Parts: sequence; structure tokens; C-alpha cells
Amino acid sequence: MAEIYHDEDANLSIIQSKKVAIIGYGSQGHAHALNLRDSGVDVVVGLRPGSKSIAKAEEAGIKVASVPDSVKGADVVMILAPDQYQRTIWTEDIEPNIKEDAAIFFAHGFNIHFGYIKPAAGHDICMVAPKGPGHTVRRTYEEGRGVPVLVCVEQDASGQALDLALSYAAAIGGARAGAIKTSFREETETDLFGEQAVLCGGVTQLIEYGFETLTEAGYQPEMAYFEVLHEMKLIVDLINEGGLTKQRWSISDTAEYGDYVSGPRVITPNVKDNMKGVLDDIQSGAFAKRFIEDQNEGGPEFHRLRDEHAAAPIEKVGQEIRKMFAWNTENLDTDYTEGSA
Ligand code: NDP
Ligand code: MG
Ligand code: MG
Repeated sequence: MAEIYHDEDANLSIIQSKKVAIIGYGSQGHAHALNLRDSGVDVVVGLRPGSKSIAKAEEAGIKVASVPDSVKGADVVMILAPDQYQRTIWTEDIEPNIKEDAAIFFAHGFNIHFGYIKPAAGHDICMVAPKGPGHTVRRTYEEGRGVPVLVCVEQDASGQALDLALSYAAAIGGARAGAIKTSFREETETDLFGEQAVLCGGVTQLIEYGFETLTEAGYQPEMAYFEVLHEMKLIVDLINEGGLTKQRWSISDTAEYGDYVSGPRVITPNVKDNMKGVLDDIQSGAFAKRFIEDQNEGGPEFHRLRDEHAAAPIEKVGQEIRKMFAWNTENLDTDYTEGSA
């Protein structure tokens, strides 16, 4: 079983005595910066010139500097820019300016595990990875709770890297919920597998096939949307609260019986072989290479796929149906094909 740490295992005063630079002020960046600040930590956010995030951070009362300047005096540098840009930010702006003994932190192991960032031997290399979106990390902290985090150490130059990581985990609220010890390899490979095979890739493909099957059989797209997409959240909430058993307890006996007899007809054992193929490509670095090579060209494949999927029929009917939910105005106004949070 995994080792799990809590607030009582962490010494908050360690991180309170450090200068912390957070690179990026997006989904994770804003949450880490604000939570650290509210936990009494000296924080500066490093952003590129002209960044649209500068005004947001300053409005929240957070100190902002250029990436090189933010890194210069820092004892801890947490890199929270998108994974595909981290290696360039590292070589151009961080590595030439970072203190020799500063600790380098990540919220995902991609660049360290696949060798795109190779810090010198004097640095602690740590991970504190919240198991939830940045906006939840901030909201739960403000409510006096927290999102569970993963912690690990890839390089322990100081001999105290784990204590530092746990202190950071406590300061962002993660150790209130629990900090699970892992490794960069395990976090990176399981994170990529989970999002590709099940949470993101698996679920979206399942929804799209379900929608196509119903509409091709002549059913109304609005009906198909409700049955295969809208209700997904209601089911997932039950799974999140009480596992697969609570979900099966809550649904009707008809639905539960259909789950048992038809689930394995849709998701056949060869799907597991396909999943193993996806895992092989993650473990070998083939997925990372394909992603980074495409990004090096400006992401032509990435942007083509994003546009194709955003134009799918289920997305058109979804836009109309969500207007029925008047409270959901954010989703009506935001163009989710324009980058991320
Ligand atoms: P975002 O896409 O939300 O980060 C965007 C931020 O990075 C913006 O402030 C952006 O500023 C800045 N940025 C982009 N490019 C640069 C650059 N070249 N130089 C400086 N700053 C730049 O990232 P996430 O928060 O989604 O991800 C950050 C890390 O956290 C990743 O390693 C990710 O895997 C990990 N993670 C993310 C989770 C999530 O919930 N999203 C969950 C757990 C881990 P600008 O305004 O200039 O564009
Ligand atoms: Mg991920
Ligand atoms: Mg139904």
C-alpha cells in the first residue's frame, strides 16, 4: 500500500522560510501562488513579457516578475507552465538564472521523466501534484479543505527534499487531504495512461460512439445528447462518492442488470489489449516523442484534431441544449478551443 502523509507529518515552517517562484499563473499556477501566499509563504510569479496572466496575478495581490528575475533569488522554483513549453522556459530563462542549490518543483513528471529537462546535481527535484484541477485546489483551500496530492523526489541534493516537498504540500492545502508518496516514473506513466485510456480519451470516444449509434438509428440528437453525455456527470458523481457499487445501488435494477450484461459486450477484452498498447507507447517514450515533435512544429496535428473534434455533431447539439441551463452562462460565453485555463 502507498505511504500517505498528512499535515501532522509536515513542517509548514520549512516552506515559510523560503522564497518561492511560481512559473505560470494558469490553472495550477494561480492556485499554488494564492494558497502559498495565504499560508504565509513569500511568493513571486514569473511570467513572460506581455502575458495576459500578469494583470490577473497583480489584481489578486501577487508579486509578478519576468521569469529570469523571479527565479534569481528563489530557493524553490515551481514550474507550472504547460508541459510542452517547460523545456524551452527551462533552458532559456530558468537554468541560466537559478541558484545552484535551489529546489525545482513540478506538478507533473513529464519533462523530468522523459529527460527533456536535466537539472544539475546540486538541485533537489521534487513533485507536488494535486489530483484535481487548479480551480478546485484553490476553492477547497479557501474552504479549509484540500485536494489530495502526489509527492515524490527524483533528486535529493539537500538530503531533505522530501521534507521540503511535504511542507509545500501542506502550504497548498494538499496534506489536509493526504499526500501520497510516489515516483516521477509512476506519476508520469499512470497519469498519461489514465487520461488517454480512460478519463479523457476513453470517455470522449465512448460518448461519441454512443451518440453516433443512436442518431444513425434515427433517434433525435437532443435525446442522444442527454442519454450519452449529459447524464455522464450524474453517474460519475456517484462513482466518485461511493465507487462502482454506489453507482449500481443508486440506478434502477433495469439499468444495473443492463450494466452487467451489456457493459462487457461494448468494452470487450480486446479493449484491454488496446489499452496495453497505449501503455507500451507511454512507457517507451513514443507518445512523449510524438507530442513534443508535433509541438516543435507549432502543433499542426494537435490543432487539426482539436478543430475536428470541436466540430462534431454532438458538440453542435450540445451548444443548443446547454442554453436550457440558464445558470451555466460561463460555458455559453467561453471559446474552449482557444488554449487552456
Ligand atoms: P496552464 O495551461 O493553465 O498554464 C498557463 C500558464 O502558463 C499561463 O499563466 C501562461 O501565461 C503560462 N505560460 C505559458 N507559456 C509560458 C511561457 N513560455 N513562459 C512563461 N509562462 C508561460 O497549465 P496547467 O496549470 O494546466 O498545467 C501546469 C502544470 O501542472 C503542468 O505540468 C500540468 O501537467 C500540471 N497539472 C495540471 C493540472 C490541471 O488541473 N490543469 C492538474 C495537475 C497537474 P500566458 O498568459 O503568458 O499564456
Ligand atoms: Mg495529466
Ligand atoms: Mg436513461
